[in-house]
Amino acid sequence: MKNKVTVVGSGNWGSVAAKLIAFNTLRLSNFDDEVRMWVFEEKLPSGEKLTDVINKTNENVKYLPGIKLGKNVVADPDIESAVKGANMLVFVSPHQFMEGICKKLVGKIGKDTEAISLVKGMEVKKEGPCMISTLISRLLGINCSVLMGANIANEIALEKFSEATVGYSQNKEAAEKWVQLFGTPYFIVTAVQDVEGVEMCGTLKNIVAIAAGFVDGMEMGNNTKAAIMRIGLKEMIKFSKMLFPSVKDSTFFESCGVADLITTCLGGRNRKVADAYAKNQGKRSFDQLEAELLNGQKLQGVLTAKEVYEVLNDRGWVEMFPLFSTVHAISIGRLPPSAIVELGDSRACCP
Ligand code: NAD
Ligand code: 13P
Repeated sequence: MKNKVTVVGSGNWGSVAAKLIAFNTLRLSNFDDEVRMWVFEEKLPSGEKLTDVINKTNENVKYLPGIKLGKNVVADPDIESAVKGANMLVFVSPHQFMEGICKKLVGKIGKDTEAISLVKGMEVKKEGPCMISTLISRLLGINCSVLMGANIANEIALEKFSEATVGYSQNKEAAEKWVQLFGTPYFIVTAVQDVEGVEMCGTLKNIVAIAAGFVDGMEMGNNTKAAIMRIGLKEMIKFSKMLFPSVKDSTFFESCGVADLITTCLGGRNRKVADAYAKNQGKRSFDQLEAELLNGQKLQGVLTAKEVYEVLNDRGWVEMFPLFSTVHAISIGRLPPSAIVELGDSRACCP
């Protein structure tokens, strides 16, 4: 039986993921040609529904304008019908919507379905932090790998060379199928057996990107930005290992690690909005700036800083993570953006 793929999500990266997959399902005989893409329905200024326009023009005119997705991509606003018959599910939504999305799918997914999460973020519950791949596995009762990397979606849409990392826990065969499904000559995918490490990298680098944006907004220069990235990387490694002792050092040298940190701090949306926040000296909130600058796209870094801070506070780790804690304090207006270079003696505390 052929594998059938549904992409759950259709934002900027979701649309590019659908394009990569649609290219491969046409050329690989073990996949059904058609790729369904679940769309969170919305009306465009023209009055048309986004789903109708995607199916008519083969373009996601709101989240990825100017790029053809492939004629075998079919947009569907009904999540249940979008996943029907699929045995491979690609989750790619802003992390704050993932719990609601999964709850809609409970009882609708076959037990042999394989999932992969491209979502960069985490949930924090009373019981503690929960990675999105774990949320998917727990709620839907299926295995979930992750794909993270230095992947600014608009660049991959233009087929510029880049790399990505698939993280898996036990099921190597599934990981190999994901590598086959995503890989193209311009998108090189490598699998590593460290699902937590890969997912922590993708999640935490968004906090460092907010810090890098503050540095840019205050025009502090490249050396300061490099220092913030270095301190941020150390906190990423330390936090990942304190939460998940199995996380491997080598994972931080894959595309999901240092490469994603670099690209996001140079050219991502978190950096861009934090730059504007610092330029406005905190007088305009992140929510306002996100709405003004991103046309419906969503930031992950501010929310992730809050979620990570809850974990740090709960466990008595705040002093050990001065950069993560300071990003949170700045983004809620408790400290000015200049505090990002006033991390104090605790800077030296990251071994
Ligand atoms: P996006 O930020 O471009 O778009 C936001 C999406 O959320 C839209 O599809 C919108 O319709 C949808 N949405 C809005 N309200 C919703 C609701 N209430 N319920 C469900 N959906 C709703 O999305 P994206 O760029 O595809 O990001 C998805 C994930 O991929 C994020 O975790 C992001 O960090 C990650 N990612 C993004 C990029 C990138 O360059 N864009 C690259 C790698 C990873
Ligand atoms: P931003 O969400 O900051 O644009 O980062 C995109 C990304 O994850 C690149 O790999």
